[in-house]
Amino acid sequence: MADVSQLTFQNPVTRYPSISPPEQDQPEPGLDAALKPQTDRGEDSYVGTGRLAGRKALITGSDSGIGAATAIAFAREGADVAMSYLPDEEEDAQDVAELIERAGRRVITLPGDVADPDFCRSVVADAVAGLNGLDALVNNAGRQIFTESIEDISDEQLLSTYQVNILAQFRIVRAAVPCLAPGSTIVNTTSIEAYQPAPILLDYASTKAAINNFTKGLAQQLAPRGIRVNAVAPGPIWTPLQVSEGQPKEALPDFGKNTPLGRAGQPTELAPAYVFLTSSESSYVLGETLNVNGGRPTP
Ligand code: NAD
Ligand code: MG
Repeated sequence: MADVSQLTFQNPVTRYPSISPPEQDQPEPGLDAALKPQTDRGEDSYVGTGRLAGRKALITGSDSGIGAATAIAFAREGADVAMSYLPDEEEDAQDVAELIERAGRRVITLPGDVADPDFCRSVVADAVAGLNGLDALVNNAGRQIFTESIEDISDEQLLSTYQVNILAQFRIVRAAVPCLAPGSTIVNTTSIEAYQPAPILLDYASTKAAINNFTKGLAQQLAPRGIRVNAVAPGPIWTPLQVSEGQPKEALPDFGKNTPLGRAGQPTELAPAYVFLTSSESSYVLGETLNVNGGRPTP
């Protein structure tokens, strides 16, 4: 694990190289294990300082990418973690689960499909049973399938994108709220696509705009109960989402180069945003979307 002093002063332009990923294709949902180049999820760099000591977190999509980096960071900050992911992602999930255990924290693994309303209920119940309670929820699972023309977006795709990206957030929150004591937190993953929709991501981008709106309304509703709700909006982050139909293959070598920092982000660069919004140090921050996007202007 890196020494803290190595992390305190770094040029954000060069902290990570500007990668030019080769054209590649993985079947959905895609695996970190097969991604070229590999990503930094903080395995060797994230240093915790006890900011989430004793917390109990459910993180969806925590086998890979941003969710994995968040799960590793939460564990190193002292949280026990329930991991939700798809059954096909067991290999990635086991790697992350091992890192959580190595941090000395409890981990439970809950494979299943968040498009299924029954699973949205059972994943919360199983997290509560496995962790002996729940006080942090990170709604991070997402699906992104690029489609050049609206005429080619099938009903099946449209429904599935909405089920996974936004309806599951509603359902998981609805199931979790009765278990969340004052002081608990919810962080939803939205996207730069909420404000700057790519013409080839109409279904995906519109779910992300909905997540921002949902976050702001829900934050007001749950504030009097002492439950804070916020969102994180990533920009272009190198993860398996991008190579499993998230982008046209030809676009991958330039992925993230059109940001002011000139490079794609790494998953571990997102983790501190989730930690901040989950930790009680952000007690007066509600309904906020924290943009972590390499410098693209947002509203
Ligand atoms: P990722 O592929 O590593 O993570 C997405 C995860 O979602 C998968 O690992 C999978 O476990 C989960 N998932 C997808 N469909 C599911 C289903 N039906 N049931 C249960 N789980 C399911 O990619 P990522 O980029 O780390 O994505 C995490 C979040 O970040 C997503 O919400 C994505 O929309 C958002 N995001 C990513 C980027 C980016 O550039 N990578 C940018 C903005 C927002
Ligand atoms: Mg995955």
